[in-house]
Amino acid sequence: MSAYSGVTGIQHEEPLIFERAHSEPESISLPGIDGPAPKALKEFLRENPANIPGLSEPETVRHFVRLSQWNHGIETGFYPLGSCTMKYNPRVNEKIARLPGLAQLHPDQPLHTVQGVLSLLFDLQSWLGEISGLPFVTLQPAAGAHGELAGLMMIRAHLDSLGEISRRKVLVPDSAHGTNPASAALCGMRTVEIKSGPDGRIDLAELKSHLDGETAALMLTNPNTTGMFESDIREICDLVHQAGGLVYGDGANLNALVGIARPGDMGIDCLHINVHKTFSTPHGGGGPGAGPVAVNETLAPYLPVPRIAKDSDAFYLEYEAEKSIGPILGSIGQTGVLLRAAAYIAAFGHEHLHKIAEDAVLNANYVLARLKDAYHVPFPGLCKHECLLTDEEQNRHGIKTLDIAKRLIDLGFHPMTVYFPLIVHGAMLIEPTETESKRTLDTFCDAMLEIAAQVEAGDIEALLAAPQKPVRSRLDETVAARNPVLTWPESGD
Ligand SMILES: *Cc1c(COP(=O)(O)O)cnc(C)c1O
Repeated sequence: MSAYSGVTGIQHEEPLIFERAHSEPESISLPGIDGPAPKALKEFLRENPANIPGLSEPETVRHFVRLSQWNHGIETGFYPLGSCTMKYNPRVNEKIARLPGLAQLHPDQPLHTVQGVLSLLFDLQSWLGEISGLPFVTLQPAAGAHGELAGLMMIRAHLDSLGEISRRKVLVPDSAHGTNPASAALCGMRTVEIKSGPDGRIDLAELKSHLDGETAALMLTNPNTTGMFESDIREICDLVHQAGGLVYGDGANLNALVGIARPGDMGIDCLHINVHKTFSTPHGGGGPGAGPVAVNETLAPYLPVPRIAKDSDAFYLEYEAEKSIGPILGSIGQTGVLLRAAAYIAAFGHEHLHKIAEDAVLNANYVLARLKDAYHVPFPGLCKHECLLTDEEQNRHGIKTLDIAKRLIDLGFHPMTVYFPLIVHGAMLIEPTETESKRTLDTFCDAMLEIAAQVEAGDIEALLAAPQKPVRSRLDETVAARNPVLTWPESGD
């Protein structure tokens, strides 16, 4: 039994509920309806019994609770995935978003009945404008990638209005998230990859060589996905502007800057903010997100409609805007996610927002400092909100990033992000976030050091056999992805 705190409960083999099925439930069942069914319901009556497993209520509850225990969630242990930021969702944000007066609103309710939520969203827009240094904000996009598309559509509309219709080239650094080139392509643009310099940052000479009369924009993530701050950011933005292009900021890593530095002040024209990464609502479960976009004065006319507006006595939705790219969502935004973000920002307030970035950066550097002698650090020096290691040392002994990740599972931790960013061989990207304590970080670092020591000691077979604690060990991920078996054959064959 490991001494680490994150170890999840005992896991039992659990058959599918249909494999457990009995034809007759051996338990109390509620009595049926006395007498004939009401006439109006007759047409809905089944002709044959439903094909559901005959289990008692306790058997059913236990089945699903046991399955839930197979899962490693943020509530069972540390979850250091990089390039994701928030994993822990402070309870107070959840509570506020679930207040019946907010959670039970309908998007099509008459405006005079939703003044409260419009007022909250209006405030959130201005807070995001102030945080980003780009004062004009839309809350509509439903994810970061959706925000990228909306931002690029605005950039394209602006260039078109200047008659610059041949500017269709979007420069994307090779460290960027895959959504960047995908969004540019979806927007009808051509992407050109910019190679990073040896320090993991943009190489100015390389950038210059790609800037020309066809350049529409540079898409830039800062800090970038290696956890490094683009220290030449002002010069980068100036170069792109001089060439007639705009700078699109991928704000997924805003958590490293919030309350301290503002992308708008750095020269960025347009930024999406993954509120589900920076301000609550972790998106690890693939659930809803929100990717508000903040822009400067140049791009403001192109913001989507409807826009939340205010006259002397009420909030209303403005649909008329000549240059707008139009609506990009069926409503004004993913309100539940936006409300959680508003709650998190308000909890820190103007004065304390910088604590988020300071703690996130401190935590990442603490992990880096404890692990840098045991693991290779591709870009030495301070990192921002996430730290990047590689398996270079361990690889000499035949142990790869994947083996380290699998061993972490046995020690009670969710693995870090592996093999991303793509430009770093054997990458391990660790992002603790601002919500973790030093004690938790220490147990994680102890586990990482134990693995490094195990490699040094030549305990290779054991590492290659990891993980041994979960019910399933190493799955054939390629077969699972190529030939997924998603249905249970009814006949049982
Ligand atoms: C997560 C992420 C995105 C995409 O955001 P989604 O909300 O998942 O669509 C884009 N860029 C970076 C750097 C990211 O980490």
